[in-house]
Amino acid sequence: MKIRDIRATTVTVPLHAPLRHANGCHWGRFVRTIVEVEADNGLIGLGEMGGGGESAEAVFRAMKSYLTGHNPARIEEMRFLIANPTASLYNNRTQVLATLEFACLDLLGQAWGVPVCEILGGRLRDRVPFASYCFFRYPDSRTGAGEVRTVDQLVEHARYLKRHYGFTTHKLKAGVFHPDYELEAYRALASALPGDSLRFDPNAVWSTEQAIRFGQAIEGIRNDYLEDPCFGLNGLRRVREMVRIPLATNTVVVNFEQLAANALNTAVDVILLDTTFWGGIRPCVKAAGVCETFQLGVAVHSSGELGIQLASMLHLGAVIPNLSFAADAHYHHLTDDVISGGLMRYDGGAIKVPDGPGLGVTLDREKLREYNELYQRLGGYPYDQDPARPGWTPIVPNDRWADPLDDRPAPIPH
Ligand SMILES: [Mg+2]
Repeated sequence: MKIRDIRATTVTVPLHAPLRHANGCHWGRFVRTIVEVEADNGLIGLGEMGGGGESAEAVFRAMKSYLTGHNPARIEEMRFLIANPTASLYNNRTQVLATLEFACLDLLGQAWGVPVCEILGGRLRDRVPFASYCFFRYPDSRTGAGEVRTVDQLVEHARYLKRHYGFTTHKLKAGVFHPDYELEAYRALASALPGDSLRFDPNAVWSTEQAIRFGQAIEGIRNDYLEDPCFGLNGLRRVREMVRIPLATNTVVVNFEQLAANALNTAVDVILLDTTFWGGIRPCVKAAGVCETFQLGVAVHSSGELGIQLASMLHLGAVIPNLSFAADAHYHHLTDDVISGGLMRYDGGAIKVPDGPGLGVTLDREKLREYNELYQRLGGYPYDQDPARPGWTPIVPNDRWADPLDDRPAPIPH
């Protein structure tokens, strides 16, 4: 089997409401580049990439000259072909490699008649549990509904997610408002959801001292972990000395060099593996093996996905023995998907690992066309800007918080 063509289509799929985060906002939609890698036997492997609200079509067009004629089974060689560790200093293609790895694994699974998880060592579980992913949200600019700003709105939203999807683990994406306000919100969530476990993620925007203050204040809560309370291994190491809660990261351990540094002088207890940040599903499986050796915890990270990337996360979650916690997904914030059958369904807070060959998902061509047209109409958006706070630049550590009393809607075109 040889690669014959690579096609990329940018889509934008609406969210139920704009999701606020420490560095900006998802402006009521995700922009994703859907990649089709066609082999000379007619099979098509699927990949998906984010890009901070921007299209990544151009980079995949450029990959055609590298990969036409390449055997998709030679994934390790592809790594050196397009993401050589020293050449990448000039053109970091880690996420491009990840997308093409998904597509090559999809091709191989289809050619061999097995799901991707069977190529990766075989499934250990048929369902992957997920956490509810609670965000502070602006109201939807079409309907005016969906705002999550006050503590009561947050609690009501988390209860809805639990009722509707069956989650028993809850994550609060924070770093938007002053930490004292977010502490009040997190405590309210914990008391509204007795027996469930929680995790908190301010996206590394606090000072080390603020992280220590917050961490100590939540020690009595049933925490899975405190995620990226400050930036950098050295700050996290200081927090870990002072706070009796496991720390997790998806920001400062995202490659094997950093994983080695963390094993030699531990700063973080739980490594959140992202199939895109690490360059594919296979590097995540390798990293999980290193974590198993050093007895570090592992969970599956979400960088905002449609169904193709979600499939990569499900196959990863299926095969790693040391999956210690529920996975994260933004998926339930989407209103639709571009895969056949529409959005994958949650059952009891979990999603079934696809059974079909390859990634086990196929494209709904009509949806691909519809959401490509929506992208053509709306264009990209700056993921690291807040539409309601023009000129705002969050610094690290941050002290430029949003005001929880400010109920102005965000001016987002739709
Ligand atoms: Mg995080």
